[in-house]
Formats: sequence, C-alpha cells, structure tokens
Amino acid sequence: MDIGILGGGQLARMLALAGLPLGLRCRSLDPAPDAVAGHAGELVVGAYDDPEALRRLVQGVRLVTFEFENVPLAATDWLAEHVVVAPTPQALAIGQDRLREKQLFEALGMAVAPHRAADSRERLHAAVAAVGTPCIVKTRRLGYDGRGQVRLGAAATPADVDAAWNALDPAGGGGLIVEQFVPFDRELSVLAARSRTGEVAVYPLVENEHHGGILRRSRAPAPAVPAAAVRQAEQFVRAVLAHLDYAGVLAIELFLRGETLLANEMAPRVHNSGHWTIEGSVCSQFENHLRAVLGLPLGSTAMAGGGVATMVNLIGALPARPDLLALPGLHLHAYGKAPRPGRKLGHATVVGGDRDEVDRVAARAAALPAAAPDGWGFGA
Ligand code: AMP
Repeated sequence: MDIGILGGGQLARMLALAGLPLGLRCRSLDPAPDAVAGHAGELVVGAYDDPEALRRLVQGVRLVTFEFENVPLAATDWLAEHVVVAPTPQALAIGQDRLREKQLFEALGMAVAPHRAADSRERLHAAVAAVGTPCIVKTRRLGYDGRGQVRLGAAATPADVDAAWNALDPAGGGGLIVEQFVPFDRELSVLAARSRTGEVAVYPLVENEHHGGILRRSRAPAPAVPAAAVRQAEQFVRAVLAHLDYAGVLAIELFLRGETLLANEMAPRVHNSGHWTIEGSVCSQFENHLRAVLGLPLGSTAMAGGGVATMVNLIGALPARPDLLALPGLHLHAYGKAPRPGRKLGHATVVGGDRDEVDRVAARAAALPAAAPDGWGFGA
C-alpha cells in the first residue's frame, strides 16, 4: 500500500484511479461504509479522529494525504506523529480558515475582498457596519458548496444581521468572517502542483460558473483573460506554494473584475475545477498530486486533446447513461454515489479544438433530463 487518503469521496476515488497505472495503490479512511473511493482502492470505515481507524489507515503506507481540508485537528496531530503528511498540517490549517487564507494572500501581495472577523453577535454587527453592505457572512471554518454563508443585501437591517448570526450558529466553533460583496465579472481558479523536490507545474487558468454556491461548469483555458491577470495568477500560486513549502496540488479560487484579480480562497488538495485535467491535460491533477506528494517528477500541465476543455458537474440526479454516451467526444465520470438533491454525482468533460463546439456538447450534457431513479443502480 502506497498512499493513505483522509476521506473516501469522489476526489479520493479519482486519486486512487490515477494511481493504478503508475503501480500505486491508495487506501482511504471514511466514516461511510459506502464511500466511493472503495471502488478503486482499499477503504477503512471509521471516524477521522478514531485512533484505531487512523492506525489502520497508515499501516504500511508511505504517506498520508487528504481529499478535503476540514480534517479534525485531532486527526492531523495524530497523523503527523506517525507518518509523513502531505500537504503539511500547516497548509491544511490555513486552508481550513477563511481568515488565515486571506491574511496569507495579502501578505503575498494579492488583493482580497475587504473583510472583518467576528466571534460574537456584537462583533458581527460591528463587522457588518465596518465592511458595509452588500456583504457575505461566512463561517471561517467548515463551509463548502455555498453552505455556511448568508448574504446581506444593501438594505440589510440589524435584524438581518441577528438572523445571520443565528443561522450560522457560530457556537459550533471558529467564528465568522464578513466579506464585502465583490461584483466580479468572472470567477477563475488556478491549480498547480509542487513536488517535494520543489518542482512546480501550473495548469492553464480555469473559468468557473457557480449556481447556488455549487460549481456547475469549468472551462479551460479560461477564455479571453487579460494577459497580465494570467501572469499574476501564475506568479501568485507559485508564491503560495513556495511560502508553504507545499507538496501536492493546490487550487486557488479567484475573482476577476475588469483587469483586477482578487483571491477568494484556497483548497490544499485536488479540486472540482480541475476535473477536466483528466482528459484535457497531458497529466491530470490527480496523477500530478500523487507524483508531487511522492517527490516524483511532475507531468506536463499542457492542454491535450485539442487544446480546449469544458467540464459540467452532474448534480442531484444523473441523466441516463446512454443519453450521455451518445454525445460526441463526451467523457463520463459517474462516481457511484447515491442520488440526493444538491449532491455531486458525477461530471462530464468534453475536449476538442473548437471552444464553441466543446461548450455546445457540454451544455447538451448538462441539460439532459434525469434518468429513472433505478437507472443506475447506485443505491437509488
Ligand atoms: P466560497 O465558499 O467562498 O467559494 O463561496 C461560494 C461562492 O459564493 C463563490 O464561488 C462566489 O460565487 C460567491 N462569493 C463568495 N464570496 C464572495 C464575495 N466576497 N463577493 C461576491 N461573491 C462571493
């Protein structure tokens, strides 16, 4: 067994799949007995902070990595004492906390949305007053796919601020952050891999579209981004990787407003906005993550398959398999997860040489009706 992964969802499944051709095997730890990484590698079922489960995870592995950043501190502390952990617990600690991320980005010279931290109801009122409305109140920790966020409009009242405090239940820990609403033109992400040896490879910039806080579509290379912003994003991700002495794939989400880039957050792991790299890049983010954490030479991040890629997420319910596979050039990734509203069940990637044509096929995939619930047989 080569690599242990904390988490057994689709990211761990795709890491395990990427490892197989290299002769690398992965073992995941997940509390759910039906965690889908078990389809592609070994699965240990247990809580992330259960020492016995962690012991079974690390048994005979060369190192442990993560498919999500919200790992309990008890788990990272235990792991760091027993095995090599990559990326480092320091990178994870920053990636867990929206405030520390913004502080790091600013320290490295990157613009971020004006923001204030708030760890009490009173401080939340003061933070909203200082930042101004419209703004977004977010939990500093444990937010994902738009959860743990409340938007306050330009006309928000003190009662709305109270309601935000109540809704986000910060008693659960970590506190809140208030961010000024950025009227961005586009959302982008930059993904890069850094090997233990210090070698860095940066993927072409990605454009992302979210609805309801969930990523729906990614396109690479992001069309028509000013050259200066492309250069800045690459320099910035290189600076973050070097600063953290990072090993693995790192994703940074960005807002583009006019010619100006702002950094929103980072994910110290493989990322949904990099799924297109499986077919769209010479070496995928998953393979490069494995190469990076093991200190192996990195693969090329150049575009493959014609030079243009579009990925659409399949959320809540999957279209029928024959309908998807009838679309020319479509690559299907169904994760084998039980359907549930808002759940990422799969994605489809289209690659080619013509941006409009690639987007058209991807749009047809995204617009397909859901299959009958028993059409896939994944726990429906
Ligand atoms: P996050 O969890 O920070 O990635 O937020 C989810 C989505 O909410 C982002 O992808 C943006 O579409 C939107 N969002 C987050 N923060 C801001 C902000 N400060 N201003 C405008 N939109 C935001």
